[in-house]
Amino acid sequence: MELYELDLYSMIEKLKAKEISPQELYESCKARIDSCEENIHAFITRTDDFAKKQLSENLSGIFAGVPTVMKDNLCTQGIKTTAASKILGDWRPPYDATAWKYLREAGAILMGKVNMDEFAMGNTCGNSAYGPTHNPNDISRVPGGSSGGSAAAVSAGYVPFSLGSDTGGSIRQPASFCGVYGLKPTYGMVSRYGLISYGSSLDQIGPFARTIRDLQLVMSVIARHDPMDSSCFREKNPDFTHREDVNIKGKKFALVKEFQDFTLDAPIADAMTKTRKVLEDEGAIIVEVSLPVVARYAVACYYALAMSEAHTNLERYDGVRYGYTVTDAAGVKEMFERVRSCGFGSEVKSRIIAGTCLTEPSRCDEYYVAATKVRTLIAQEFTRAFGETDYILQPASPSMPPKIGEVDDDEMKGYEADLYTLPVNLAGLPGLTFFTGYAEKLPVGLQLIGPRWSDPELLNAGLVLERHLGQPKIANGGIK
Ligand code: GLN
Repeated sequence: MELYELDLYSMIEKLKAKEISPQELYESCKARIDSCEENIHAFITRTDDFAKKQLSENLSGIFAGVPTVMKDNLCTQGIKTTAASKILGDWRPPYDATAWKYLREAGAILMGKVNMDEFAMGNTCGNSAYGPTHNPNDISRVPGGSSGGSAAAVSAGYVPFSLGSDTGGSIRQPASFCGVYGLKPTYGMVSRYGLISYGSSLDQIGPFARTIRDLQLVMSVIARHDPMDSSCFREKNPDFTHREDVNIKGKKFALVKEFQDFTLDAPIADAMTKTRKVLEDEGAIIVEVSLPVVARYAVACYYALAMSEAHTNLERYDGVRYGYTVTDAAGVKEMFERVRSCGFGSEVKSRIIAGTCLTEPSRCDEYYVAATKVRTLIAQEFTRAFGETDYILQPASPSMPPKIGEVDDDEMKGYEADLYTLPVNLAGLPGLTFFTGYAEKLPVGLQLIGPRWSDPELLNAGLVLERHLGQPKIANGGIK
């Protein structure tokens, strides 16, 4: 077994026991990256020099010497951070995102910044100014998005864990496409300070890993209060300690009534049946909850809010403060126009325009304000549902990963696929993507949702499922 194949927990154990050195581990992960990256293209920026500098220092903390990668919308001090957009140019943030800072202080080694859909808008990782990332299980297919680089890097064995962000599914959907575990924590459980904003009331940072125990380890480091993010929790730190004796006897797992009429790709429907059986065998009770407002309005509500917030958040990219600019414009107006026309990709531009219309004073009540009210109804609907069940079980995506470049003429379809993930963000809930097995060579993941702040219990339920369904293997990364 090569060192890069170890999971996070085993790496930590071997490093602690001095069976392996941080240097050896770095070399093994680096060699793995070198051999697959031509096929996968997960990186926007590799940070070998920074990693070497870290390795030359006195590493301490529970992750001392463990390689990782960050989605490129997480600020890393002095290291190029692009959000996969041209508009940030060569911008180097003057500070670290808190989640990365906590990991760095725990000794994690940064191998690089990874690909995503521009400003996290999309679900294929193909809307990147730096080209698409490929799914390590089948390089002709997309890895999912927007955190496609973070999911692919863990799936291909580049690193044992990574961070991504999830505004409407961007951790959970790529985790299911790539065959890794991914947690979108409760809104406020992980500081968003230093995360480049997309929809600030929806954005959340979370981890990817190849075991649930590894997700617990990462959460134990990043789920800490941060005075720099006022939406971050203030109470004592949640307990993500790993325990073997967890069970789900008597716990209720709900299927969403309104979703039962929707079609799923066969491997996903089969995974639902298989998982239900595992839950029943473990003594859990399968129930049904009704989420009519979610089923009918969540997609429209989410996009109205996400685009409105994006339009405000992206106003700051004007060619004055960040990266990309033009120097020969006739005046300020022309400079703004040219910078924003050339700097942003087409998906981002269309969302900025939509957000501008949705919040324009004469229409704001009818669209943006209405969406905030629907959002409240959606949150209330989930609160009611969690009075009747402990968890909700559903797919993270209704379909298997499409081929790269496969364009659907119906643009709405991409947005509608997010129905399985974005309600969780509207209600600020935690959602876990877990691995259920393979269909041919493609992994199939599903999603478990819990009430707000139930992240530790959600991972415990995930442990029970992992025990029965097995853990994913490292993908071949396009190597024959
Ligand atoms: N696909 C959704 C969007 O484009 C979700 C993306 C995300 O979670 N960042 O908004």
